[in-house]
Amino acid sequence: MIQTDTGWIIGNGKNINFWNDNCCLDKPLSEELGLPEEIASKLTAMVDKFVDSFDWSIPEAILTCIPFLQGALLKISVPRPNSIDQSVWRHSSDGHISLKLIREHLNNGDQTIFWGKNIWNSWTPPTRSCLVWKILWDRVPTDDKCLQVGVNMASICSLCGRSSETTQHIFFQCLH
Ligand SMILES: [Zn+2]
Repeated sequence: MIQTDTGWIIGNGKNINFWNDNCCLDKPLSEELGLPEEIASKLTAMVDKFVDSFDWSIPEAILTCIPFLQGALLKISVPRPNSIDQSVWRHSSDGHISLKLIREHLNNGDQTIFWGKNIWNSWTPPTRSCLVWKILWDRVPTDDKCLQVGVNMASICSLCGRSSETTQHIFFQCLH
């Protein structure tokens, strides 16, 4: 769900998969075309491979097979060599993702939906229910919480070792 609601602001296009990332439509091109997973996973061309002399350069054969593609590309910026690709959360005004925004989005802004019914039930193990509840309320005891209460410590993610340990990093950003 989070990936579906994540889009890209195209910079140089080197980090965005032309076929499998949300870059020119509301969904990945491979999904729009209904490509099976085994084919989509083999499409590895990045957006920058479809640019030449600061303009889109899509092979004629692709444009013939996907007639709506040209119109879709006209609506987005052409990649620029010195810009950086940015992943953005579509439901945030500045593109940044946060637990609060995810929670609001899942609730559709309607706070009368009771998450308890979805989390605390007979088929979910209590330990999992407890963890999800803590994530939703940002109460997982991560390093950043210790720092907030004045515990002086160095914080590093024990999974990837590349970022400080926060709930957002561990559950939504860490690549391990
Ligand atoms: Zn990590």
